[in-house]
Amino acid sequence: MTEDWKTRTKLVHEGIRRSQYGEMAEALFLTQGFVYPSAEVAEARFISSGPDEFIYARYGNPTTRMFEDRMSAIEGTEDAFATASGMAAVNGALMSLVKSGDHIVAARQMFGSCLHVLKVLGQFGVEVTLIDGAQPENWAQAVKPNTKVCFFESVSNPGLEVIDIEAAAKAAHSVGAKVVVDNAFASPIFSRAVSLGADIIIYSATKHIDGGGRALGGVVLGTHEFIRGPLETYVKHTGGAMSPFHAWIMLNGLGTLDLRVRAQAANAEAVAKATLGHPKLARTIYPGLEDHPQHALAMKQMGAGGTLLCLDLKGGKEAAFGFLDAMKVISISNNLGDAKSIATHPTTTTHKNLTDEERALIGITPGLVRISMGIEDKDDLIADVLGALDAA
Ligand SMILES: *Cc1c(COP(=O)(O)O)cnc(C)c1O
Repeated sequence: MTEDWKTRTKLVHEGIRRSQYGEMAEALFLTQGFVYPSAEVAEARFISSGPDEFIYARYGNPTTRMFEDRMSAIEGTEDAFATASGMAAVNGALMSLVKSGDHIVAARQMFGSCLHVLKVLGQFGVEVTLIDGAQPENWAQAVKPNTKVCFFESVSNPGLEVIDIEAAAKAAHSVGAKVVVDNAFASPIFSRAVSLGADIIIYSATKHIDGGGRALGGVVLGTHEFIRGPLETYVKHTGGAMSPFHAWIMLNGLGTLDLRVRAQAANAEAVAKATLGHPKLARTIYPGLEDHPQHALAMKQMGAGGTLLCLDLKGGKEAAFGFLDAMKVISISNNLGDAKSIATHPTTTTHKNLTDEERALIGITPGLVRISMGIEDKDDLIADVLGALDAA
């Protein structure tokens, strides 16, 4: 019915369910359960439930379903399942796709918790091959007859490598495997993952979708068969469902997602350009800059450079800490996608559990600072970053 709506229209209207009161805003149904008019109705609902029939909030809830319907409409997938966090989404998607003896190919440059889930799967007899995912040909070389999943972050955390979704999909599909894309850094606004061949798309809603750093959440998107089949079955029985309260926060976040993410990306590009060639920096890493190794791919795949950039300070950890401590507008914190600008030092925080060798292999140097650009005024952000570089 609303398929020809553009994203911004869908972001505020899609999926809304109104009660008999005809409320304007999305209602918060803060209820774990639902009353059945009779025992016969309860019995029938446990056999099969209709679109407006719910059983228990761990299985589904009207507010949560509004969030799921809006997400699948903007991503262009058949269905979606909302989860308690981004990691519940990653864990749920992988656990419902593989069993002992299966093989996963994954990019080695990934968020620490994603690598941990792969480590756990290894303990249960799933074979995991980590590759340099930024080299497109590596996917085709790594897949085998028992490969069930190719898994990667479309833009990696924190190094901002851009992975070629189309190349990974071609390799995966040649052996009947599914492509699982963690799209947190791209955000739904810069995602073309479905048209590039991704089968399953994951977001940490905690990031850009909330946009205010308030609530944890995640979502898995894919075909109706997968989402309402193995994925829902696994997540609903193992407790990873999203709270209705968080779904209500996420629905509010979605309304302004396009406006925020585009403003954040414009700020990221402006700050990246302002720091380019700065004497204190070994590198400015931003996929929107022409010197980024996957710049052309980023433009094809996202149409933009994204909302994050990394600055690699020549002076190592000491310079990075001096830089972080000198900033006044940009806060030191480890969330991303927030309307407030945030900077973090991956070596000592998000990626501290890796060994020095593992960090070096994926480009996390002691001087690396990851910045998630907010929606503040561009000139204030540039002044903050350049002033702090002088102080570092
Ligand atoms: C933050 C993040 C996650 C985990 O999301 P949570 O909501 O914190 O559980 C997964 N993948 C990537 C790339 C992330 O940045």
